[in-house]
Amino acid sequence: MSNKEYSLEAAYDPQSRYDDLSRFEPEFWKKKKLEDLNKEEWELLCDGCGKCCLNKLEIKGKIKFTNTRCRFLDCQNCLCKIYNRRFEKVPDCRDIDLAAIREKPRWLPKTCAYWLLDNGFDLPDWHPLKTGRADSVHKAGMSLKDKDTVSETGIEDYENYIIDWPDL
Ligand code: SF4
Ligand code: SF4
Repeated sequence: MSNKEYSLEAAYDPQSRYDDLSRFEPEFWKKKKLEDLNKEEWELLCDGCGKCCLNKLEIKGKIKFTNTRCRFLDCQNCLCKIYNRRFEKVPDCRDIDLAAIREKPRWLPKTCAYWLLDNGFDLPDWHPLKTGRADSVHKAGMSLKDKDTVSETGIEDYENYIIDWPDL
């Protein structure tokens, strides 16, 4: 595979998702259950942190995050380089649906908007739906941007990479 094949769509601007929030009911995430959201509302909830793309281990019934990231995650903007083909290219890439959100043990980071809402919490103040800015997740230090992560390529012993960050 070439890097070119997996380069991001140059035209995609994450900010474009938040430029016209007036189309949505204000604070729709407080008024509807996750199961009642439409597709666009559902997608807007994702804060773009990229932390669900870290590799994890299940040890004694608990999920341990590692600082190894999927080889297709762009660590500068926390976007998937192959978003439209991710399930085809990465068999263990997970769709974020209700089953995934409610799975035990929890494998989504504790800042994940879907997990927070499903467990009765509000979105954090830095969430792009509250700030209107896609980059507020990065500025708050809640994404993988500028974090100490490594690509999974070539890694064999994931146990050496286990991390215990407070936002996981
Ligand atoms: S952890 Fe949740 S909010 Fe963050 S990128 Fe994954 S699905 Fe989106
Ligand atoms: S393929 Fe899946 S796990 Fe890998 S970066 Fe894309 S969304 Fe994340």
